[in-house]
Amino acid sequence: MRFSLLFLMLASADAQDIRRLTILHSNDLHARLTPDTNERGGFAYLATLVRRERAGCDHCLYLNAGDLVQGSPVSTIFRGEPVYKIGNMLKFDVSTIGNHEFDYGYVQTKKFLRMAKYPVVSGNIVDDSGKLFARKVYVIKKVNGLKVAVIGGVMSDLGGFLKPKDLGPWHSTPVKDMAARYAKELRGKVDVIIVLGHIHPEEGSSIIKEVADVNVVVEGHAHGGRKELEAADGRVAVGCAGYGVDLCRLDLEVNKREKKLVSWKWTKIPVDSVTVAPAPDVAKVVAKWEKRVEEKVDREIGEARRDLEKRDLTPMIEKATMEEMKVDFSYMNAGGVRDRLAKGKILERHIWNIIPFDNVMMTAKIKGAAISDAIRKGRAVEPDKEYTLALSDFLATNPASIKQLGLAGVKFAEVDLYLRDVLINWVKKKKVIE
Ligand SMILES: [Zn+2]
Repeated sequence: MRFSLLFLMLASADAQDIRRLTILHSNDLHARLTPDTNERGGFAYLATLVRRERAGCDHCLYLNAGDLVQGSPVSTIFRGEPVYKIGNMLKFDVSTIGNHEFDYGYVQTKKFLRMAKYPVVSGNIVDDSGKLFARKVYVIKKVNGLKVAVIGGVMSDLGGFLKPKDLGPWHSTPVKDMAARYAKELRGKVDVIIVLGHIHPEEGSSIIKEVADVNVVVEGHAHGGRKELEAADGRVAVGCAGYGVDLCRLDLEVNKREKKLVSWKWTKIPVDSVTVAPAPDVAKVVAKWEKRVEEKVDREIGEARRDLEKRDLTPMIEKATMEEMKVDFSYMNAGGVRDRLAKGKILERHIWNIIPFDNVMMTAKIKGAAISDAIRKGRAVEPDKEYTLALSDFLATNPASIKQLGLAGVKFAEVDLYLRDVLINWVKKKKVIE
């Protein structure tokens, strides 16, 4: 009798140590303040869902995994600042830095960190002396009686995604090593360790597989997001789709004593602007900023006779560059094409969404023999003849792309022309895109 009573007491004590923790998360919102051509996303609609999910939830945390800016005219024209202002209305609990946070230069990134009314954590962006870019590597939040550490990180190859001048003296270190180091330091002090990473999914996978101290990885960067949650040895990784098309929700049960996850369930909540009402306060601020760019970008410049996907737009941008700049060759990186073009009227805004970056053009003269297959794309060249080549400065100044395109040693000169304007001018002349 005494034995079974003791057993019951122990069992119930164990049961009390199981606590719920829900992580709402988003990433790569990319300044898409208004819904996309499929009526998905938009900050005011996302805000409604975040508020609905958090209402009365004492075990909820909302995390945002980087790349808040860059992707719409408001962001480009005002260098990301309105997006950080509106982002504050979403009330993230913790956020991290994405590669695109550096698109307006690292001084502006510092400004974003000051503007954010929530901690922005990142532990592997450093200068040569090892000084950290972010003020905090991690924060510890108390949620439902659990101490939850959130460690921030960015991809180990951050430099490959930026113009060297925008990153300045900063670079990233291997994210898994950083996560392992801080998780070890935190393990005795907290119940749950989350890595909030603007990282490649492979990096997220390797963290949950190899860093036993980390319970959860919440990723950003891959715009498709993960199809399913990945679990390894009781640890999990998730990543939501970009552009705010979904809000993601990870429901966990945590054994507080063992500091381990007991159960997990991951769901995606569509941010459907047809069925979700916009949050009025956010909608008002979005409308104010949209109004300021309207005159500049809501001008009709042509017509698309069909839907053009990103894979159709990449060669089209190369063609536009060759025709507009009267050069023999050009190359467009598929990752630089940020939106599709829907059938119908083409507004200047649509081109801004496709190429939000203020990338300027650069040209070079290059001998036929030195032009790589990636640039030639099967076109014949005479080895000794000199050809002209035009690239964006993103490609022409980044060592990773110079290497990939076989352009080491080629001298480029800057042209006073944005890549975006090349495409705008070309569409204006063509009028109709078949
Ligand atoms: Zn990114």
